[in-house]
Amino acid sequence: MKLLKRVNLQPLNTMAVPSVAEHFVRAGSLDEVKEALLWAKNNVQPLHILGGGSNCLLPENISGLVLQPILRGVKLLESNERHYLVKVAAGENWNRFVHHCLSKGYFGLENLALIPGLVGAAPIQNIGAYGVELCDLFHSLEALEISTGTLRRFEKDECEFAYRHSVFKGRLSKQFIITSVTFRLFKHPELNVTYPALRAALAGIPRKAISPQIVAHTVMEIRRSKLPSPELLPNVGSFFKNPVVDMETIEHMEQLYPDLVSYEVDANHKKIPAGWLIEKAGWKGREEFNVKVHDQQALVIVNPNKMPVTKVLRLAKAIQANIKARFGIDLEQEPQLLL
Ligand SMILES: Cc1cc2nc3c(=O)[nH]c(=O)nc-3n(C[C@H](O)[C@H](O)[C@H](O)COP(=O)(O)OP(=O)(O)OC[C@H]3O[C@@H](n4cnc5c(N)ncnc54)[C@H](O)[C@@H]3O)c2cc1C
Repeated sequence: MKLLKRVNLQPLNTMAVPSVAEHFVRAGSLDEVKEALLWAKNNVQPLHILGGGSNCLLPENISGLVLQPILRGVKLLESNERHYLVKVAAGENWNRFVHHCLSKGYFGLENLALIPGLVGAAPIQNIGAYGVELCDLFHSLEALEISTGTLRRFEKDECEFAYRHSVFKGRLSKQFIITSVTFRLFKHPELNVTYPALRAALAGIPRKAISPQIVAHTVMEIRRSKLPSPELLPNVGSFFKNPVVDMETIEHMEQLYPDLVSYEVDANHKKIPAGWLIEKAGWKGREEFNVKVHDQQALVIVNPNKMPVTKVLRLAKAIQANIKARFGIDLEQEPQLLL
C-alpha cells in the first residue's frame, strides 16, 4: 500500500472544487483495502471513501485518510437459459462496464450508459436513468465492514433500494466499502423504452429493429445533448432529487400552475421534476457566489470557476430556501459531502 500525504483532489472530483486530502491511498486489491483500513484504525484517523468523484462534494481540507478502491476485473459467474450472473469489481469504470456487457451480449444495463463514476458507488444511490434503475438488474454485492475488516455479502432484499437510495446511504451509511457488485443480466434483450424522451428519440425506428446497442447509443446522444460534460463544465449531474409529493399538493399545484409536470409514483404520490420547480422559480442560468445554475438544465449546478464547495453549497441552500418559500416543497440534495 502506498500512503500519500497532502494530495490534491481537485482533478479527482467532477465538480472540480479545490480539496486536499491529508492522507490518500489508491487500493488496487482487497489486501490493500484491508491494509488501509487497519492504518486508519491504528492511527485513529477518520476514513473517507472516494470513487470517481462524480456524486460527492469535497471540503477544502479533508483530515484523515481518503481511500479510493480501484479493484479491477469482470467475471461471468454462471448462465442459464435466460440470465447471466456477472460479477464486477468496484474500481471498474461504470460506462466501460456497460459497454463491455453489451459487447458480450449481457443485456439490461443499456439505459444506464454514460453515467459517470465507478461501479462501487453505483449501488450507493441506486443509480437510475431513462426508466431503469440499478436495482432492476442487481443480484448481490460484497462489501468490507469498516469496523471489523470482514467481507460480507448483501442480497438484493438487504440493500433497501429506493429512488436514489440504498441502505448504504441510509442505515449503514459509511459502514461498508463495496468491493464488487454482481448483476443478473439478460441473455435475450428485454428492452425498456417507455421513458418519454427515449421513446420519442426512437420513434422513427421500427420496434423490431431496436437493439440494446441502439438503445445505449440513443441514451448517450440524449445525455450529451442535455447534460454538460464535467470535463468542459464541472458539475455532479442532478444536484437535487425529484421531490415525491402527495396528491393534495399536486392538486393545489395544478390549480396554480396548469403547466405542472408530474409523474405517478403510486396511487397516493407523484414526483415533480426538481428542474421544473427550479426553472419556474427563475433560477435557470442564474449565477450567485461565482457558481451557476446551468443554462439548459436547471437541475444541474455548474462550477466553471472551480470555486470551493462552500460557494456551491451557498447557492444550493439559496435555491432550496426559495423553492420552499415559493412552493412549500423541500428539495433534497443528491450529492453527499465527504466528511
Ligand atoms: C454529468 C453527470 C451525470 C450524471 N447522471 C446520473 C444519472 O443519470 N443517474 C444517476 O443515478 N446518477 C448520475 N450521476 C451521479 C453519479 O455519476 C453516480 O451517482 C455515480 O454512481 C457516482 O459514482 P462515483 O464513483 O463518482 O462516486 P463518488 O462520487 O466518488 O462517491 C459517491 C458516494 O459513494 C461513496 N462511495 C464511492 N465508492 C464507494 C465504495 N466502493 N464503497 C462504499 N462507498 C463508496 C462515497 O463515499 C460517496 O459518498 C451523474 C453525475 C454527473 C457528473
